Amino acid sequence: MRLVLDALHVLMDGVPAGLRMEEIGSAIGTFAGVRAVHDLHVWNISSGQVALSAHVELDNLDNWAGLLESARQMLQTRFGIAHVTLQPEPAGGINPVTARG
Ligand SMILES: [Zn+2]
Repeated sequence: MRLVLDALHVLMDGVPAGLRMEEIGSAIGTFAGVRAVHDLHVWNISSGQVALSAHVELDNLDNWAGLLESARQMLQTRFGIAHVTLQPEPAGGINPVTARG
């Protein structure tokens, strides 16, 4: 699990009170198959409503549907974040130079 902490620090100013970016990123990263989380944003969209977006690097994109649902439920129940946008990405980048058969 690798968190891109620089990106998190840059975005911390607008984070709703009581939410810790590192904690949220780590929570997403604990799901099986998640290699890293980056471009994590959390912000207020209206009174009492919090939105989140993040890029999630995965070992295997085939697992995405189940992971997305699990992550959405976790973010709702643990952090109270109802509006979640997660972008799945293959670990190692969108366009790997070498393809393995
Ligand atoms: Zn990305």
